[in-house]
Amino acid sequence: RAKDRGKNGYCFYNSDMSEESLQKLTLESELETAIQNNDLVLHYQPQIDLSTNQVIGMEALLRWNHPQLGLIPPDNFIPLAEEMGLMINLGEWVLINACRQMKSWHDQGMTSLKLSINLSPQEFLKQKLVDKVKQVLLDTGLTPQCLELEITESMTMDVIRSTSVLEELHDIGIQIAIDDFGTGYSSLNYLKNFHIHRLKIDRSFVRDMLNGPKDAKIVGAIVSIAHALNLKVIAEGVETKDQLEFLRNLQCDEIQGFYFSKPLSANDIEKKYEFNSTRGVIQL
Ligand code: C2E
Ligand code: MG
Ligand code: MG
Ligand code: MG
Repeated sequence: RAKDRGKNGYCFYNSDMSEESLQKLTLESELETAIQNNDLVLHYQPQIDLSTNQVIGMEALLRWNHPQLGLIPPDNFIPLAEEMGLMINLGEWVLINACRQMKSWHDQGMTSLKLSINLSPQEFLKQKLVDKVKQVLLDTGLTPQCLELEITESMTMDVIRSTSVLEELHDIGIQIAIDDFGTGYSSLNYLKNFHIHRLKIDRSFVRDMLNGPKDAKIVGAIVSIAHALNLKVIAEGVETKDQLEFLRNLQCDEIQGFYFSKPLSANDIEKKYEFNSTRGVIQL
């Protein structure tokens, strides 16, 4: 990386900046065709109910399977897509394909599995998001009650309040989760003003929770707020047994993280959980 390369502050500046922007340019043009070329892929990460030890849902996480570069993680191209105004298309692709996949899992007997999908601010602002979602549910046959949309606190209250999207989604029966809870600005306002179903405690709090009292207290407080308001609460980024037990003691409802599983391809999910022999419930 440029910064590691030495003290010669002004020499690296030119060469590496242009290298980087060149790469960005290339990615940009390739991203536009990624959908047509079928180069996008969804991975799924299981969500576990701590009281039953059952897998209750899957979060769909987008990857770009680049012909030369291999699997590119979303943080490396979603901001680009947002910048380019491509997120609407990408988001639609995710919605359709994730719902189709989940419907297929339901058809294989896993009827109680829920699907979580991340929404970007752009998609949220798009006219007709609600119509789109309704249409996709109709087309795929997935029940609205099995779909959860994750929004983040970076979608400012003003924006959300100026539309009736959240209300309309709620009216259809779709669930709303606040992702990365605790890292944005307007968390509590969200809870006050909208029908929210679930809080997802941000990974950073979970990561640091056993290393000092602050994060542990924050996690505990988020669980308390959630339960006081009758919401479910799920912790993201759980990597160790100690973290899991700590969360269990705090009465956290659900967890998601590498401890149980990394995000996996649909195929690997089916293999891992032996869909055919599980009678509709994935018991760990
Ligand atoms: P997110 O929605 O908060 O997703 C959780 C991220 O944490 C995922 O990263 C997941 O792989 C990672 N993760 C899960 N468990 C662990 C763990 O135990 N340890 C660690 N270190 N990481 C863990 P990923 O897949 O790279 O996604 C990053 C972000 O990209 C997502 O954060 C989400 O904001 C965004 N994203 C992913 N797919 C989509 C999509 O289809 N649409 C939109 N709009 N955004 C997406
Ligand atoms: Mg998420
Ligand atoms: Mg998150
Ligand atoms: Mg996140």
